[in-house]
Amino acid sequence: MDRFTQLTQKERFFVNKIVEWGMKNKRTFIWRERNNDFFIVFVAEFFLRRTKSETVDRFMREIFLKEFRTFCDLAQREENELKRILKPLGLHNQRAAALKKISHLLYGVEKMPTYQEILGLPHCGRYIANAVECFFYKRRRPIVDHNIQRLFHRFFSIPKAVEIHKADYLWDFAEKLLPDDDFVNYNYYLLDFSAEVCKPSKPLCDICPLAQMCNFYINNKKSSVSGDDSHV
Ligand code: SF4
Repeated sequence: MDRFTQLTQKERFFVNKIVEWGMKNKRTFIWRERNNDFFIVFVAEFFLRRTKSETVDRFMREIFLKEFRTFCDLAQREENELKRILKPLGLHNQRAAALKKISHLLYGVEKMPTYQEILGLPHCGRYIANAVECFFYKRRRPIVDHNIQRLFHRFFSIPKAVEIHKADYLWDFAEKLLPDDDFVNYNYYLLDFSAEVCKPSKPLCDICPLAQMCNFYINNKKSSVSGDDSHV
């Protein structure tokens, strides 16, 4: 039986609406336009851990990729020089030190790093390893970041975890919803929807295509009718 038909009605509704929304609203970023380039996909995911997508996109297009196109370019640059270049992005001391170590580990490696090897790199974890697997290698892998966790929590009432990378139940749930086909775009849509519509504060519930089945929205509507303004 196909995986999609085994989902609950609510889960199927969620996946269908995310895909419908995403096909009209997917965002454009350099690491999506060039997702056959390991260096660009990896470095972008590395920066995205702590910085907004729009900021990373601008920085990569306008500064970073004019200086570096390979791990070899990074390995050859002095760490102080790298810090100076990374300064507009912030966290430049930590990022420069980690990128230097990573570039020395990956420079000259003939085979692309495996999932386990990416997990073992400094400052890399489950999110980066899964994102690279999905977006570069085009393997069916779930991704969960803070925005996606919040969307799952609001829509399905899935409990939040303090440490997302250790919360297997979140990754298993994301994997369960992940389509067999076009999972790359589905993960992009999920990232975009959770950042642009189901925002941390003031989610756009009034125009949200998920509203009719969203636990957060339904509970808040009930509480505003009864005069209780508590939140999920
Ligand atoms: S209805 Fe509101 S809380 Fe629910 S998924 Fe949409 S934006 Fe998020």
